[in-house]
Amino acid sequence: MARPLSLCFLLHVVFFWVLLRAALSSARPHTQEEPLYLKFVSNATDFPMEDYYDYIIIGGGTAGCPLAATLSQSYRVLVLERGGIGYGNPNLMSQEGFIRTLMEVDTFHSPAQAFTSEEGVPSARGRVLGGSSAINAGFYSRADTYFFHNSGVEWDLRAVNTSYAWIEKAVVFRPKLRSWQSIVRDGLLEAGVNPSNGFTFDHMVGTKIGGSTFDKFGRRHTSADLLSYAKPSNIRVGVHASVERVLLASTSANPGQKISAIGVVYRDQVGRYHHAMVRDHGEVILSAGAIGSPQLLLLSGVGPRPYLSYWGIPVARHLPYVGQFLYDNPRNGISIVPPMPLEHSLIQVVGITESGAYIEAASNVIPFASPARAVFLHTPSSLLNVTVATLMGKIAGPLSRGSLRLASTDVRINPIVRFNYFSNPADLERCISGTRTIGEVLRSHSLDYFKFRDWYGNREFRYVGPPLPADLSNNAQMAEHCRQTVTTIWHYHGGCVVGKVVDKEFRVLGVNALRIVDGSTLNISPGTNPQATLMMLGRYVGLKMRKERSGPK
Ligand SMILES: Cc1cc2nc3c(=O)[nH]c(=O)nc-3n(C[C@H](O)[C@H](O)[C@H](O)COP(=O)(O)OP(=O)(O)OC[C@H]3O[C@@H](n4cnc5c(N)ncnc54)[C@H](O)[C@@H]3O)c2cc1C
Repeated sequence: MARPLSLCFLLHVVFFWVLLRAALSSARPHTQEEPLYLKFVSNATDFPMEDYYDYIIIGGGTAGCPLAATLSQSYRVLVLERGGIGYGNPNLMSQEGFIRTLMEVDTFHSPAQAFTSEEGVPSARGRVLGGSSAINAGFYSRADTYFFHNSGVEWDLRAVNTSYAWIEKAVVFRPKLRSWQSIVRDGLLEAGVNPSNGFTFDHMVGTKIGGSTFDKFGRRHTSADLLSYAKPSNIRVGVHASVERVLLASTSANPGQKISAIGVVYRDQVGRYHHAMVRDHGEVILSAGAIGSPQLLLLSGVGPRPYLSYWGIPVARHLPYVGQFLYDNPRNGISIVPPMPLEHSLIQVVGITESGAYIEAASNVIPFASPARAVFLHTPSSLLNVTVATLMGKIAGPLSRGSLRLASTDVRINPIVRFNYFSNPADLERCISGTRTIGEVLRSHSLDYFKFRDWYGNREFRYVGPPLPADLSNNAQMAEHCRQTVTTIWHYHGGCVVGKVVDKEFRVLGVNALRIVDGSTLNISPGTNPQATLMMLGRYVGLKMRKERSGPK
């Protein structure tokens, strides 16, 4: 008799359990699901003191994450990222947090690491999973054909296109144009930056709306999201893991023989050292970016012999161009205070001119922090915000080149960089031409709304910082304006360029089992903005490496 009773009881329990779950789930607010990759990301303090992998990727940045995801489909992969997890950090997740991220910096921990070039131009680099794609302005645009013909790599353009498409499916969106962006688009067309190319990822002369890594809810996506394509059982991602050195060894007694990368040494958050070693046929891949990769090569003993000796670093391989051919695309432009408040907008539109100047725009609500505020306001802590609308020009290339050198043997300290902006006269000509286009946009009817009326009824822009020279045709004044107002658009690249430090397959010259896959290998900036091509590069090289290894020996 006991059996039917307990069955009935069980059915009741199940019934109520189902009801309860349904009620609970309908009452729960809709929350965003955590990205899949978080399941295999851990603090490196939890990692063993020594472990073995097929591929060790230094830097979980823009190129490093897609590379890791791709290699993990067939091999055991370790990613070591010196920063933490950016997902969920409110400043990093939204366009509104862009400026705050760049302002709230400290020496060792902030997601943006500030540095200043020897010319005095302040800049920043990503120090977080996702790298600089986690702190950038989110604009996405594919490279131009000039890049594919002149970057020193024999590109397989079919694989390039499928790699771009792989990225775009996951992390790129069509932006909803914010007001300043659509005004600038109209102004560019009036200024003759034609035709209107609508919305496209492709690089086309004229004015276009590009892609964005901010989705329709305004949430940022980064290259870290591409880790969700990885095979979880084959990949480990360690955060707060600062790689100090690539371990290099000679595999034969013959001194003429190539050395090989055999592993890396990294330090975790509590200062403990770990070794990660590569298995047979494995490789170490530097994806530490244009500042981090040359720095780490030098610290590992790969670079110009006299220079390494000066620092007391044992020379593993004399490679004279490590840290040389470093470039930064100068940014010039104007900023105005508009007569009406504007919403935040990072880059969504670009004008691509025939002369190789690219015009972009942003509007930011920034805190007004003059000390004079305290004189009139009783509550100086209350926040006053002011909108600043910016029009900026970036030049293609550039041709002017600089260099990087160590400031310390501590990998956490930024190296010293110098970009020698406009040392090549062709860059100055491009800047003059781009600045003229900005002048034309300012004269367009579309921008009339942004002028203030003075006592006499004249309408003028209210500039923050220097205005353009009154006579746009005066080359000397325009050149002076370019030199005086130069700043960065953060597209610095080079330092380990193809043909000088790495070969066409991105292998470090004269070293086995060591590649570099990131912006340090570029000798020109790809198209208007580099992140599309750097994410593509990670996927592209990963596919090639898999094919190479599985192909006939
Ligand atoms: C503020 C800002 C705005 C930008 N806006 C745009 C934009 O709108 N559109 C666009 O296309 N591009 C933009 N860029 C440029 C673009 O984001 C970068 O060119 C690109 O992300 C660089 O990719 P990368 O893979 O070379 O390096 P990164 O993405 O910087 O990756 C390098 C990674 O290596 C890690 N690392 C370095 N050293 C070590 C070490 N020793 N141990 C472990 N890890 C290490 C770093 O923490 C970092 O995560 C912007 C950049 C910045 C900084």
